[in-house]
Amino acid sequence: MEKTVQLYEGKAKKVYATTDENLVIVDYKDDATAFNGLKKGTISGKGVINNRVTNFLMQLLEKNGVPTHFVEEISERETVVKKVSIVPLEVIIRNISAGSFAKRFGVEEGIVFDEPTIEFSYKNDDLGDPLMNSYHAIALKLATKEEIETIKSLAFKVNEVLKAYFLSIGIELVDFKLEFGKTSDGTIVLADEISPDTCRFWDSKTHEKLDKDRFRRDLGNVEDAYIEIRKRLLGE
Ligand code: ADP
Ligand code: UDP
Repeated sequence: MEKTVQLYEGKAKKVYATTDENLVIVDYKDDATAFNGLKKGTISGKGVINNRVTNFLMQLLEKNGVPTHFVEEISERETVVKKVSIVPLEVIIRNISAGSFAKRFGVEEGIVFDEPTIEFSYKNDDLGDPLMNSYHAIALKLATKEEIETIKSLAFKVNEVLKAYFLSIGIELVDFKLEFGKTSDGTIVLADEISPDTCRFWDSKTHEKLDKDRFRRDLGNVEDAYIEIRKRLLGE
């Protein structure tokens, strides 16, 4: 399989076409952004870690019955994935209050919910990824009713699998963002990435933040947090 043309350069990854029309290669960068691109920086080594961590978690999810876009890791920063048409929704699951949830509802961070919550944002940088409910998504034909139901149930399944796994390595899975896509035959699969860029991870004992909040909030030791997540997940 060969890379051909670059299809897209995003904030954290580049996407390349390949000689197989059903496959693309994603290439993870060290660039970091926050607050809808307002804050920019570099997290040295992040691309390598996010590639490894995402692929490890995608494979864990596959083993547990969640279909994903993962095909094969081909280098430190590059992975072959199934080409999908991305459903333009950011699917956010929360187990503990933090970030925009705490801000929007005027509550402190760290409230442990009895049940996880789900919300959608419209993936549209020009509009600042506005919050939207499933009726809005269906009205705008971003997905069908059936597709939304599939996405919801897969997202909660991802949460069950990941929450239990992270607990076993001493990490609380606070919240995370997922993206889903449709393959050429119309199957909904989990796509994009699952990494410290897209999840909040707190150490179970110390509650230390081990994710991109260290960058967003200038907490220092950003690289170390990413390294710690890789170490706990992969032992490397
Ligand atoms: P952004 O677009 O938010 O800046 P990235 O820098 O992570 O994000 O760019 C990666 C892009 O690739 C995203 O737009 C994401 O939706 C898209 N993508 C992720 N997985 C796939 C896939 N399997 N097929 C096609 N596009 C994908
Ligand atoms: N998130 C993400 N990309 C986004 C927005 C959010 O990966 O464009 C993740 C974020 O890392 C966190 C979760 O989704 O794990 C919930 O984010 P929140 O809504 O609290 O927004 P934030 O505080 O990041 O603005």
